[in-house]
Amino acid sequence: MRHDYDYLIIGAGMTADAAARGIREIDPAGSIGIVGDESDPPVRRPALSKDLWIDDDATLTGSTLDPAADTGAEVFLGQRITGLDPQGKVATSATGDEFGYGRALIATGGTPRHLDGLEPSEHVIYYRTVADYRRLREAAQPDTHAVVVGGGYIGSEIAAALSQNDVHVTMVFPEDAPGAGRFPTEIAEQVTARYGQAGVQLRAGTGVDSGHDTAEGVQLTLDDGSTLDADLVVVGLGLQPAGDLAESAGIDRSDDGGIVVDDHLRTSVDDVFAAGDVASYLDPRLGRRRVEHEDNATTMGQAAGRALAGADEKYAHTPMFYSDLFDLGYEAVGRMDPSLETDVVEQDGGSVVYYLDDGRVVGVLLWNVWNAVDAAKSVIESGTRPESGLLKS
Ligand SMILES: Cc1cc2nc3c(=O)[nH]c(=O)nc-3n(C[C@H](O)[C@H](O)[C@H](O)COP(=O)(O)OP(=O)(O)OC[C@H]3O[C@@H](n4cnc5c(N)ncnc54)[C@H](O)[C@@H]3O)c2cc1C
Repeated sequence: MRHDYDYLIIGAGMTADAAARGIREIDPAGSIGIVGDESDPPVRRPALSKDLWIDDDATLTGSTLDPAADTGAEVFLGQRITGLDPQGKVATSATGDEFGYGRALIATGGTPRHLDGLEPSEHVIYYRTVADYRRLREAAQPDTHAVVVGGGYIGSEIAAALSQNDVHVTMVFPEDAPGAGRFPTEIAEQVTARYGQAGVQLRAGTGVDSGHDTAEGVQLTLDDGSTLDADLVVVGLGLQPAGDLAESAGIDRSDDGGIVVDDHLRTSVDDVFAAGDVASYLDPRLGRRRVEHEDNATTMGQAAGRALAGADEKYAHTPMFYSDLFDLGYEAVGRMDPSLETDVVEQDGGSVVYYLDDGRVVGVLLWNVWNAVDAAKSVIESGTRPESGLLKS
């Protein structure tokens, strides 16, 4: 079957939803098609590792986005686009449907990075989607034992969420502490203490070699040779950007597999744009980068929608990001890389961490410090930390 749209959005996540809204800011009437391969509608993904586990009033429905109702877009779910022909201006789905377009946006995000030797199974969940949330909810009964593999964003949040739902949690990660890939030692120590206080077992400095299902659950073999039995395993090892479609269409990709866009979010082929987790964009303050966070998805998505509809605007947003771990939390801007020089300043009962590259501030972590994101962006823009070290909101 053939469908034709003025604007075709490939992928149905937060970026797609924001893009449809962005289109409508400029063009109230143009037809919009959104094609996503998940069977669930777009959702605010942060809820899947936070609110839905810790807020009794939070519901999946409350976190679900509805671009069809809000923008009049036609939304196709459970349909994977497998081919994109920029000359013929048509995308083809796995079921053989064709989607013609005037302009297209690739908002395909990414898929969880996989671990060799640990296949997804009934008891092993690579965590990202609503379907993953439903499975984990069902499996994560009080007093079950869950192993969380990975100490990054998703691993740290899911471990905290499960622990707050009376699941016994063991975390396995190669770094020295949960979040040690982002935090300086002082903060990493606080995080370690908080997880310990909650009863989460930390197997720091350890990786998973392999795993297999057993009659009761899963047995993991760790790289120190020990084994670990669990009722379920949740894996959070970061994202592999879903840029393959672009490659097959001859669109330029970044070294990490993302899709390269210019300062108007255009890809290297005419009338095809990209945004969100998959896009490698030009940040005016930090240079070319790819960001896997909500503010990036919604702000870049909206800008891409406006660009699709003809707005001639440079994209110049530096996104913030945030995370909550038990009663600890933070907002941050820029590069959080503890291998850089860091400077930690106590402020308002929390800490501000400056990450310096060659003397220039390239990242600011606001650890339990709130309402200071704009000030942090100004610091990164100037490259210089305030003389007192304190940030004014
Ligand atoms: C559990 C979780 C918690 C998070 N928490 C935070 C947080 O606290 N703070 C924060 O800032 N960010 C957080 N994030 C990150 C944030 O949610 C993402 O940056 C954002 O959702 C990215 O949106 P996206 O639309 O670009 O990509 P995605 O959400 O990946 O959406 C892309 C969609 O396109 C589909 N797709 C891919 N290829 C095709 C194809 N060929 N055809 C059709 N469809 C396709 C995918 O299946 C997917 O549904 C979290 C993410 C997760 C998973």
